[in-house]
Amino acid sequence: MENKKYVYLFNEGNAKMKNLLGGKGANLAEMMNLGIPVPEGFTLSTEACTKYYEDDKQLSEEVVGQIYSALASIEETTGKKFGSVNNPLLVSVRSGARVSMPGMMDTILNLGLNDETVEGLSGLTNNERFAYDSYRRFIQMFSDVVMGIEKRKFEDILDEVKDAKGIKFDTDLTSSDLKEVVKKYKALYIKEMGKDFPQDPKEQLLEAVTAVFRSWDNPRAVVYRRLNDIPREWGTAVNVQSMVFGNMGETSGTGVAFTRNPATGEKLIFGEYLINAQGEDVVAGIRTPLPISRLEEDLPECYKQFMEIAERLEKHYKDMQDMEFTIEQGKLYFLQTRNGKRTSQAALKIAVDLVEEGLITKEEAILKVDAKQLDSLLHPNFDSKELENTEIIAKGLPASPGAACGKVYFTAETAKEHHEKGEKVVLVRIETSPEDIEGMVAAEGILTARGGMTSHAAVVARGMGTCCVAGCGDLKIDEEAKTFELGGKVYHEGDYISLDGSTGNIYGQAIKTIENEIGGHFGTLMAWADGIRKLKVRTNADTARDAEQAIKFGAEGIGLCRTEHMFFDEERIPAVREMIVSKTEEQRRKALDKLLPMQREDFIKIYEAMEDRPVNIRLLDPPLHEFLPQLDEDIRDLAKEMGLSFEDLKQTVESLHEFNPMMGHRGCRLPVSYPEMAEMQTRAIIEAAIDVKKRKGYKIVPEIMIPLVGEVKELKYVKDIVVRTANEVITKEGIDLRYLVGTMIEIPRAALTADEIAEEAEFFSFGTNDLTQMTFGFSRDDAGKFLKDYYEKKIYEFDPFQKLDQRGVGKLVKMAAELGKKTRPDIHLGICGEHGGDPSSVEFCHAVGLNYVSCSPFRVPAARLAAAQAEVKNPRPMVEAK
Ligand code: PEP
Ligand code: MG
Repeated sequence: MENKKYVYLFNEGNAKMKNLLGGKGANLAEMMNLGIPVPEGFTLSTEACTKYYEDDKQLSEEVVGQIYSALASIEETTGKKFGSVNNPLLVSVRSGARVSMPGMMDTILNLGLNDETVEGLSGLTNNERFAYDSYRRFIQMFSDVVMGIEKRKFEDILDEVKDAKGIKFDTDLTSSDLKEVVKKYKALYIKEMGKDFPQDPKEQLLEAVTAVFRSWDNPRAVVYRRLNDIPREWGTAVNVQSMVFGNMGETSGTGVAFTRNPATGEKLIFGEYLINAQGEDVVAGIRTPLPISRLEEDLPECYKQFMEIAERLEKHYKDMQDMEFTIEQGKLYFLQTRNGKRTSQAALKIAVDLVEEGLITKEEAILKVDAKQLDSLLHPNFDSKELENTEIIAKGLPASPGAACGKVYFTAETAKEHHEKGEKVVLVRIETSPEDIEGMVAAEGILTARGGMTSHAAVVARGMGTCCVAGCGDLKIDEEAKTFELGGKVYHEGDYISLDGSTGNIYGQAIKTIENEIGGHFGTLMAWADGIRKLKVRTNADTARDAEQAIKFGAEGIGLCRTEHMFFDEERIPAVREMIVSKTEEQRRKALDKLLPMQREDFIKIYEAMEDRPVNIRLLDPPLHEFLPQLDEDIRDLAKEMGLSFEDLKQTVESLHEFNPMMGHRGCRLPVSYPEMAEMQTRAIIEAAIDVKKRKGYKIVPEIMIPLVGEVKELKYVKDIVVRTANEVITKEGIDLRYLVGTMIEIPRAALTADEIAEEAEFFSFGTNDLTQMTFGFSRDDAGKFLKDYYEKKIYEFDPFQKLDQRGVGKLVKMAAELGKKTRPDIHLGICGEHGGDPSSVEFCHAVGLNYVSCSPFRVPAARLAAAQAEVKNPRPMVEAK
């Protein structure tokens, strides 16, 4: 059997081999093919990384053998030799996954130096200072990055030597100072590692390669992967490249540059360099780099060549490039090129500009913008300058994006009260409940100690577009004392904090926020996306205000209106409570009669906001106890208000207590027990539709959605109530009104029997929040507490409440869609779980043939773009929406 190839010389690859060679490796190979000056080298493939993990985190003999033979080739082409005293080959070792990934091991330079080769380098360059400077940098980098010895300890030594000599800058150190530094560094290495600093360059190389592979799985990389949908199985490649030196005097230098401005997208080379320096000096910010335009004066030939190549690379890759270069004694080398990271504003401008410049098509432009990034564009951000010097005191889940800064309040009432006085407030709660809604509306940001990505706080905050950091386990709230403790400090009511809902970062002070400007490029790209996508995009909106916001963002209808949120309004909660504590049907109907006009008014406003667009309204879903107070003092107050005895009300509250309310008396189970509830809501939905249709003439076709169905007979039971009530109203009004009755598919049994369910349901809307909860069997509110252990132990890579679990929950969705179509070929299919706004999940919904996704208003643009991207990648036949 022929041996598998794990190591590729640069001239054996090309840009298409990204999956195998990583982004960096594939681009180095491509540049070499294009005849751009690139120092010689080779790439260990991502398959070598996978093999490393399969082989119990060891480099196999086979891989080591291939590394050595690639090394021999490099030695031959460069005429230099690894470990040679006369003419030493030195290399850099860098990680390079398919996409660039901060958090992984980055770069080791000058590998191959030891006590002997340093002398060789000194002789060869006739520059002893340079040689020892390179050696001390290598020891520090290797010890820190490969062996995990703290960098600070090396910096302390350097400072000590500088202080002793009365020197301020590193550049003032003489070669004998640097020799002393090297000696001290090596002593530190022995102290820390219990052995000498490795002198064998091959041992150094294998250790460095192993460190890159190891870094693929370090905690920072794992978190980054989870946030960016990067599967662990991809692995990373490693690039080994012969060194060129930017620190060999005044005709040497090193720098980084972008072909366009990565912050604004402006078409102008944007970069910096340092003369007589090595790569990390530019990045570390120790010396102030010069703008790239200055290179024209310093080294005009190099500047000209650099500009030519930069332009060529941009045209070749048809995208903004982020390049690293080094000039060694007047000779220019490119060390890297890649599609540059950019802000969302820049991403939109660049994508549109590239189309206008004729470099790419609209379809390609659509794929160039990260749909997830759009969310951040629609929310305020922190002033990045202020952020630089601000400490992160803790982290929670990034539940709803945006930046918020305000004074801390611990109850919805106080938050609202201070908001009304003109203060900016942040609501801090152990967890939120529907009762907190007014405080949430008033708050700039919401912070909770408990709850996951689909907890009440997260869902409601996303709906409102309010920043929210949820499930911060370290947050210790003392509600009585009105304080919380975090990061070893106690914060009081009225203290300022700041939250970043896109990263989950919490800051213990005020930070200025700035609104983003959404320019014309956004509209242009979105219009292209809308012209391409097949999947419709609706919104989850409970109020006319949310609906109007969503329309501005391009929503084409409402996919879910959760009627319960309206019940918490101050004016109607008494009637809701009266309905719940009623002992007879008659009493209940009396209370429902009070609610009817209020609900009708809500729906009228929503229909008016939505005009001709479809509106899907769900019947009441949560368990009733959520509407009742739990604390004795609150029960006492309510009893007084309602003219009941405390004991009586307390008993009702207790009787409604459930051990697991999420699996209790909720959803369609409520109208099975109390049909009059569904009657009232249906009446409100239909009467409102008739009213608006008559007055405004909109083509309204209400979609009435029955939640939490698991059995066709229970659906039929509730549907019959809905249909009877609706028809009664329609006949009475003497108007022609079409309406649809359908169900959510959010219980595994409903998915399994979807063919039976579809006989009664005109549409399905996948409630993937509950479907995930019930398929995994873990609570959407509590999973946050232990999911982190699952990430750490590599059992799960992603939060299934954020990104649809395609293998399990997705299988149920696909199967239910197919079963549904079997008995009702024209069944209308949508999704209204939080996954409806997650780009990778949207792609899945496109692939399984749903008609629409529905998500919170601020996620609508991301869903529109993701739907278009899905269509570009995987075109599907048009599915006619009804
Ligand atoms: C769902 O379960 O996915 C859903 C949309 O309903 P809710 O989040 O209100 O339970
Ligand atoms: Mg649900």
